[in-house]
Amino acid sequence: MTSDIKIPAFEATPVDSIAKIAATARQSYRSQKTKDVEWRLVQLRKLYWGITDYSENFQAALKKDLNKAPHDAILSEIHHLIQELNLVLKKLKDWVKDDKDIEYAWTFSAMKPRIRKEPLGTVLIIGPYNFPLMLNVAPLIGAIAAGCTAVIKPSENAPATAMVMKEMIEKYLDPESFFVVNGAIPESTALLNEKWDKIFYTGGPTVARIISKKAAETLTPVALELGGRNPSFISRSTNLALAARRLMWGKTINAGQVCLSQNYVTVQKDLVDDFIKHLNATYKEFYPNGAKASIDYARIVNEQQFDRIKKMIDTTNGKIVLGGETDRSDLYISPTVVLVDSTDDPVMKDESFGPVWSIIPYDTVEDAIKIMNTVDPTPLTVTTFGSKAENEKILSQVTSGGATINDAWMHGAISTLPFGGVGESGTGSYHGRAGFDCFTHRRTIVEVPSWMDKLLRTRYPPFSATNFKRHIWLTSTKPNFDRDGKPLSGPGYWLWLIFGPAALLPKVRY
Ligand code: NAD
Repeated sequence: MTSDIKIPAFEATPVDSIAKIAATARQSYRSQKTKDVEWRLVQLRKLYWGITDYSENFQAALKKDLNKAPHDAILSEIHHLIQELNLVLKKLKDWVKDDKDIEYAWTFSAMKPRIRKEPLGTVLIIGPYNFPLMLNVAPLIGAIAAGCTAVIKPSENAPATAMVMKEMIEKYLDPESFFVVNGAIPESTALLNEKWDKIFYTGGPTVARIISKKAAETLTPVALELGGRNPSFISRSTNLALAARRLMWGKTINAGQVCLSQNYVTVQKDLVDDFIKHLNATYKEFYPNGAKASIDYARIVNEQQFDRIKKMIDTTNGKIVLGGETDRSDLYISPTVVLVDSTDDPVMKDESFGPVWSIIPYDTVEDAIKIMNTVDPTPLTVTTFGSKAENEKILSQVTSGGATINDAWMHGAISTLPFGGVGESGTGSYHGRAGFDCFTHRRTIVEVPSWMDKLLRTRYPPFSATNFKRHIWLTSTKPNFDRDGKPLSGPGYWLWLIFGPAALLPKVRY
């Protein structure tokens, strides 16, 4: 029984200890120990056991923070991380190898050009409240794999998970290299006053701007994992029952507090009534006694978020076609669908980040695409349930961080695929190999043999026309395109290659 598990009361990390924590993490990085791949593997294996051993504590904490069903806590947080760890543990020794599959002119071969994978250094990870375990630990996996030391700042809005995560990380990972700082704005501000080698932030766009500005002062790189007003598309080619079921899953898991879930669905005008019927049937199937009575349905994280989402329901000019019930004392908002006729409706204008979504009817695919590009030109996700041609049209004309065809946000549920946004929905990606790359510096290295000095004489003064010509002749290739930018091919190209001028160069005046 997870209810028997004792969860430490939330405690903010003293602000005056934060500089020392950052300094210790930096010093540990400079000690060089994290460069050893075996050391990283040991940390990752310990993290595996930490998550496994603390599985029930996390389930209890997630229940407390979000009323997250244990089933869901395992699937979308714990198991998600275990799968990612399994991949990283299996592949890390390959990923850390020098990259030699790179392009360069043959004349440089003797210099053995290669790209070395180096850790960025000491990184800060700031997480949100909705998947408060997974969205902090998944970037940590990338950071450890890359050889970084890290400080995590979980969301204060999921305090139980934040405390359990702190306990687990302190117990299982190297105490000089990995830290959890708990707290809200004062603690985050103190962390941002430190120098990091990368800041990895997951959350909303307002705080992302604060973080980016602060990072810019010290030219610190950032990865931003943000949200968006994600569209979905339904046409005459859609299996409406299946789409209703899948979209209902996408928006009821974690009570819709999912950055990837659809904010609205564009539905072919004459299908709207049928689609609504299917949604209502699915709701009854998922929650025969109503969502409120179901142990599978989460709650809104706190009153502030509850009020924000409820305001969307209260102020919409649309028609509520499913749900609409709320109970502040229980932080309950039922799965709610609103039929709207304008992109200016409050439920269309903001990211609901809750169980509320809208249906907006369209006449033609082009109209649907126009709606999507008006509402949010760079959402985190696009999901489309159309014909092959319609899906392709939507993918090519509406950009997004990732996309799923014929389902809700399934691309984000596969923990080893690169995951990230574009434009307003974020920058940078992680998970699996992308997580390793996110915290890795690709350092280009060449090794110039002493015997090559003669070949390199062109670069030394006094500059000589003879050396220059020889060098250019050796290192140039003729273009395989004409002056109109068209590719050259056939016999004409071969004649040009053989009999054309030796090299097309600007004249050098000595
Ligand atoms: P939030 O921006 O309120 O908070 C996220 C983190 O930022 C918290 O740890 C918080 O303490 C910290 N923070 C708050 N104010 C800060 C400040 N002034 N300086 C530094 N740090 C500060 O986000 P949230 O409400 O927890 O999450 C909701 C948003 O996150 C939604 O927009 C959602 O789409 C997005 N999100 C994105 C992803 C993704 O993977 N792309 C995942 C989950 C949530």
